[in-house]
Amino acid sequence: MPEYKAPLRDIKFVTEEVLDFHGHYANLLGAEEATPDMVAAILEEGAKFAERVLSPLNRVGDQQGCQFKDGVVTTPDGFKEAYQQYVEGGWPSLSHPEEVGGQGLPDSLGMMVTEMIATSNWSWGMYPGLSHGAMNTIELHGTDEQKQTYLTKLVSGEWTGTMCLTEPHCGTDLGMLKTKAEPQADGSYAITGTKIFISAGEHDMADNIVHIVLARLPDAPAGTKGISLFIVPKHNVDDAGEMADRNHVSCGSIEHKMGIHGNATCVMNFDGAKGFLIGEPNRGLNCMFTFMNTARLGTALQGLAHAEWALQNSVAYAKDRLQMRALSGPKAPEKAADPIIVHPDVRRMLLTQKAFAEGGRALIHYCSKLVDITKKGSKEEKEEADELMSLLTPIAKAFLTETGFESANHGLQVFGGHGFIAEWGMEQNVRDCRIAMLYEGTTGIQALDLLGRKVLMTQGATLRRFTKIIHKFCKEHKGDKRLKSYITALDKLNGEWGDVTMKIGMKAMRNKDEVGAASVDYLMFSGYVVLAYFWARMAVTAQTKLDEGTDEVGFYTAKLQTATFYYERLLPRTRAHVEAMLSGADNLLAMDEDNFLFLNA
Ligand SMILES: Cc1cc2nc3c(=O)[nH]c(=O)nc-3n(C[C@H](O)[C@H](O)[C@H](O)COP(=O)(O)OP(=O)(O)OC[C@H]3O[C@@H](n4cnc5c(N)ncnc54)[C@H](O)[C@@H]3O)c2cc1C
Repeated sequence: MPEYKAPLRDIKFVTEEVLDFHGHYANLLGAEEATPDMVAAILEEGAKFAERVLSPLNRVGDQQGCQFKDGVVTTPDGFKEAYQQYVEGGWPSLSHPEEVGGQGLPDSLGMMVTEMIATSNWSWGMYPGLSHGAMNTIELHGTDEQKQTYLTKLVSGEWTGTMCLTEPHCGTDLGMLKTKAEPQADGSYAITGTKIFISAGEHDMADNIVHIVLARLPDAPAGTKGISLFIVPKHNVDDAGEMADRNHVSCGSIEHKMGIHGNATCVMNFDGAKGFLIGEPNRGLNCMFTFMNTARLGTALQGLAHAEWALQNSVAYAKDRLQMRALSGPKAPEKAADPIIVHPDVRRMLLTQKAFAEGGRALIHYCSKLVDITKKGSKEEKEEADELMSLLTPIAKAFLTETGFESANHGLQVFGGHGFIAEWGMEQNVRDCRIAMLYEGTTGIQALDLLGRKVLMTQGATLRRFTKIIHKFCKEHKGDKRLKSYITALDKLNGEWGDVTMKIGMKAMRNKDEVGAASVDYLMFSGYVVLAYFWARMAVTAQTKLDEGTDEVGFYTAKLQTATFYYERLLPRTRAHVEAMLSGADNLLAMDEDNFLFLNA
């Protein structure tokens, strides 16, 4: 049976030893309560909840899935009770403001707990995850009355939330959306239209559901400049703030899909449902962009979650499963065969998972530290953190989900044919992971956002913010002979990042399609460089600990060995990405559309 154990040691290494979260909390406005003892206690409780309550439900969720009957969605056995425990434990309110009933703790602390929830049971975690999206929207753009009415109930966990963007004819291109919002005499709006693929759109875990819906006002301009944002509750709310009659919004059906069976993916029909405008008319997409970074970071986390889950289970299996002898002679002569962990190729798969999971963890928690600063830092600090987040978010979302999927696949492969069999859970992990590269903007769309909007449209200024940080780090450590191989390679790639950007920028001046043609290779190249930076930072910390003398020689030595594996075995992939991205758009665009297939003999 697959199992999950919260990686508290590694979370502590990344957040405390590498990223100095204790120092960060000591200086962060309003983070006085996040003392080391408090953080440790929260992590321990979060770990127990993830390991004991959520992890055992992961397979149940996959096998039972959600059921739909007459507009009602029933979640798998145990999901509702687990949600009740989550609410009673005060988890929904952890990092929301005290004014609306939250505990006011930093977002980055919430992210550590979310990592454990996400890894132990991604499908279940999506219900509170979507609520956080709705909470962030109302927190940033809602009126005081909307906050009082809806946000307090979402923060307490009594109600959950959704994000309703997608329609049958528009996913990526939201400019085409048709859902209408007609102004009513009482100041509300009548919302009419169909939304599809709405995660957690209907379920039995909470009494009310607060939908955040994108729709068009009657006089709205065409395209993305004519989209407004609305709150549409499943049950209307009376003047006393209590749930009243049913609103005209209903679930038409749920999808039968490849994975995340425990999470309901709903068709939502709005038939003149009562809605309330959030923010300015026609500024809906701008409102959404203000919290898009955190939402995308939440999906980036899914990549880490499936990589970590694959790693934990495939390491255990590789130590246990006996097949063949090591090429260099038996390693366990007393046994019928050696455990498969002796074979170099099995180690290649395990170390790939380890390098992506632990490197991804460093990137995720670095970004969540930036989120804290974007909210509570000084003006200059906020400006820098905002710019870094805008660069790193598409990289984290696309690179970590792509490498998370690769890791989930390696996890399955380590199990051989047993990986393909449901009871081991490895095939579920692959299926559940696959969606991460699609929703919240596909890999292709993240890549366009990175290269087009974030890098070229800022004339490289956003990129330089980060390459300067890497440059400074390399300068500081280039004298250390033991770290030389990492630092030299990182410094070189960091310079190359600027060079390839310039080359693509020049080509794009002649032909805009060059951007789309280079973008995914550019994003993957960027991801490998970013992770190389974090692996170098982790290597510096590990080396320092070993130099100082430590009881955990194995832990820190493994960090250095994984860094070496990453630099020698995974980082060379950048060469292929550079060649491909600079090869130009012709090899993609030359072929006539009619020549893609010739089926008749
Ligand atoms: C399980 C699940 C849960 C979801 N949850 C939600 C939710 O809670 N709320 C919500 O609103 N939506 C949700 N979605 C919708 C999801 O965000 C969309 O499916 C996604 O945005 C892609 O849109 P699409 O499916 O219409 O694909 P399309 O937009 O049709 O894209 C098809 C392909 O074309 C590519 N493409 C499109 N335009 C370009 C371009 N300009 N350049 C290069 N390539 C391009 C895409 O990358 C993709 O590969 C969910 C989807 C699923 C499957």
